[in-house]
Amino acid sequence: MNPIGVFGGTFDPIHYGHLRTAFELWQSLKLAEVRFLPTGNPPHRERTLADAALRVQMVRAAIADQPAFVVDDREVRRAGASYTFDTLSELRVENPQRSLCLLLGMDAFLGLPGWHRWRELFDLAHVVVAHRPGWKAPTQGPLGEIMVDRGTGAVNDLHRSPAGRIYVHAVTQLEISSTELRQIIDAGRDPRFLVPDPVRDIIRDSGCYARPR
Ligand code: ATP
Ligand code: MG
Repeated sequence: MNPIGVFGGTFDPIHYGHLRTAFELWQSLKLAEVRFLPTGNPPHRERTLADAALRVQMVRAAIADQPAFVVDDREVRRAGASYTFDTLSELRVENPQRSLCLLLGMDAFLGLPGWHRWRELFDLAHVVVAHRPGWKAPTQGPLGEIMVDRGTGAVNDLHRSPAGRIYVHAVTQLEISSTELRQIIDAGRDPRFLVPDPVRDIIRDSGCYARPR
């Protein structure tokens, strides 16, 4: 069975940078599926603007016509902080032999040493890093070292074992961020063609990013 891609994020809101990255990784790594996991109450960043239910709804709307993409809302349903370590531990129990690939943008990967039990993540999953505009792969420090130990350029290594490797993959660079989207919308501008139309509809109907006027 092919690997499961695990793609976590606040998705506040989900945009084409997320979707195109997931699609290209799904194709090039021959993933069985990409599982989108919206975070509940993120431990490492300030509050989101759209509530969890709305963020899940936007992800659902964005991936509805892509069968290999699925939403997993377990972090949203869990009370309190959600750690990637806990989520991957659960997925590992549910899929004992299966290859799991944690999909991260380079910016997220660079922050990995700040994550709860980060070194143990490699016992649970592979880490696949997508290039993002303006971010360089680490060559020094704990991440530089772990890249030397665990890095691979072979997709097969992600299929052969269930966890433990790091694979860096270039994806089409779409310089879109949720932060910038929230600013655009708050300024009264239209996010069209940066997010799927059904997501744009939810944003407009809910008014979730608009400043009260
Ligand atoms: P924010 O600006 O609020 O931080 P974001 O656009 O970075 O939002 P997140 O939900 O924080 O989105 O990101 C989830 C995951 O998607 C992270 O691993 C991040 O690196 C990756 N990602 C976000 N935007 C892009 C993009 N434009 N291209 C590739 N990967 C991306
Ligand atoms: Mg981010």
